[in-house]
Amino acid sequence: IFITVEGPDGAGKTSVINELAPLLKQQLTSPLLLTREPGGIPIAESIRRVILDPKNIEMDERTEALLYAAARRQHLVQKVIPALEDGQLVLCDRFVDSSLAYQGAGRKIGVDQVATINDFATEGLVPDLTLYLDIDSDTGLERIKRGRHASQINRLDVESSVFHQRVRHAYLRLAEENPQRIVTIDARNPIETVTKSCYNVIQNKYPN
Ligand code: C5P
Ligand code: MG
Repeated sequence: IFITVEGPDGAGKTSVINELAPLLKQQLTSPLLLTREPGGIPIAESIRRVILDPKNIEMDERTEALLYAAARRQHLVQKVIPALEDGQLVLCDRFVDSSLAYQGAGRKIGVDQVATINDFATEGLVPDLTLYLDIDSDTGLERIKRGRHASQINRLDVESSVFHQRVRHAYLRLAEENPQRIVTIDARNPIETVTKSCYNVIQNKYPN
């Protein structure tokens, strides 16, 4: 089972995943693999550093989209697919929807164009379930400002609030267009509430 967690910056994806993991482990019969994008394996973590390096301001948006797709490809082949074949539950922080929202809508490349290169990268692999943590841009950016240390500033942090609004609207649209796969969770709630909602969604869909 392949589950992805998506959402704009400041939605709390990483924190929720960290709280969710021990709950799932108690419940599951199969092993749980926690991973993230871009990254999760050395080649993809190297690509991540290139993409997010604040010094790389001259990076073209299509180059960025291709690098995300390349990191995704390697991560899938080397880590996600073997785990799925082994019967593990894979919980991944971000996947293709992030590229559709950030590069497609945020960077204005176009969602369809970005979907095309990602189909190439994934050979059409789609998550079984996507938990979309929804947050408005102002609240999300406020959380980022409070929570992130100066050494963790990345190229995205200089983006305007309209950039982040385009990202959020693209996510909402994806959720509307894929109601079978994407479940929207209100991420303005406290982390315990958001975690519980995520847990309940997974339990309802996969009662073991
Ligand atoms: O998920 P995480 O916060 O680790 O992502 C790191 C940064 O990369 C974030 O600022 C996120 O907005 C950005 N990102 C992006 N396009 C993607 C995935 C992540 O701009 N496809
Ligand atoms: Mg995160």
